[in-house]
Amino acid sequence: MKELALYVHVPFCVKKCYYCDFLSFAEIAPEDRTAYVDAVLEEISEAAAALPKQSNAQYEVSSIYFGGGTPSSMDPYQIARLLHQMQDYYRVSPEAEITLEVNPGTVTLPKLQEYYKMGINRLSIGAQSMMNHDLMHLGRAHSVADFYEAYRNARTAGFRNISVDVMMGLPGQTVGEYMNTLRELADCHPEHISAYSLSVEEGTPYYEIYGTGREAADNILGLSKLPLPEEEAERAMYHATVNFLVSMGYHRYEISNFAKNDDGNGRYESRHNKAYWTRGDYLGFGLGASSMIANERFSNLRNLADYVEAKGDTKTLRKDRTELGLKEQIEEYMFLGLRMARGISPAAFEETFDVSLKALYGEVIDALAAEGLLAWENDALVLTTRGIDVSNRVLSYFLLEDEEDTAEAPEAKEEA
Ligand code: SF4
Repeated sequence: MKELALYVHVPFCVKKCYYCDFLSFAEIAPEDRTAYVDAVLEEISEAAAALPKQSNAQYEVSSIYFGGGTPSSMDPYQIARLLHQMQDYYRVSPEAEITLEVNPGTVTLPKLQEYYKMGINRLSIGAQSMMNHDLMHLGRAHSVADFYEAYRNARTAGFRNISVDVMMGLPGQTVGEYMNTLRELADCHPEHISAYSLSVEEGTPYYEIYGTGREAADNILGLSKLPLPEEEAERAMYHATVNFLVSMGYHRYEISNFAKNDDGNGRYESRHNKAYWTRGDYLGFGLGASSMIANERFSNLRNLADYVEAKGDTKTLRKDRTELGLKEQIEEYMFLGLRMARGISPAAFEETFDVSLKALYGEVIDALAAEGLLAWENDALVLTTRGIDVSNRVLSYFLLEDEEDTAEAPEAKEEA
């Protein structure tokens, strides 16, 4: 039985956060939201029919993820319609992880109870910071008090698998302030914590300010140039995150993701994200959603009116189809595999690609290991702590020139 992960994109938010470059919109009328949900329902059924027939395996859905945007800004009835449609058209495992992204301030106890009753069994709550002035600068639509209320209500509603998102490297943030946020969140004992650095993207208000350094009077947020922490401080935040969360009974299973320790079966690790990181098959529904089925990638069109107009017709709404060749598959396998703490097993690599890891990357691996950026642990290749600090550079050495070439050793690449 082949596992399949399903994703539903809900592109609606209460308001647009200043740093956000996700595909999401504020102030969409209720009737337009309903039209959108109707279109996604159609897509879910059409996409089931369009799945390639598996010769000796059938798909079983191991995870469903409602992301956005802010799925929790929707009426629970709409989420239930989407969930039931997926259950009607796909074989969903009774053990499937079903996650809903929640923004504090958009949920009440009765709403959370409805989610729980319909079968949502995991929440991902966007806390981002436990300091109100950070939330204000981020343009978030919630306060710290809203987070506590949502979290408490989620527990009362019955949720026993909760993930919390936190951001580091915020403007003006010191390591001490960030650690206060992390401590307060860990004191709530969520089963999972994702800790990402703020990244300032072009086209966002944050970029406007940080990129130009305009004076307070001219800019959107009323701040002068954003005092983003230095790279060294950001690294210190990351290292402090790992040390602190490990001391609190979590383990890091991906560069930015931490799960509560259990009996060793990774119960609280995100099954859905692991499907992405292990290059499993996944189908994305909704505006701009991406999919990968049998090494073919495609993503849906990104214009809301066009998406609704397409009425779920997969031929119209799927764009950018790319058949991944062996080279791309191997590169992805290395990039994603090395981000995971369990690393890359040479045996699994050889079984997947019919070529040995050593034959393809031997020189690169030896050179990076000599630099202290890669190491062997439990028969698997992993990034060291120093390797994580410069992970982009390390991963770039695993790019292949073309399908016949083997990767070059780091020294050779740096000279080029
Ligand atoms: S809630 Fe999330 S998706 Fe919505 S605007 Fe903020 S960051 Fe973007």
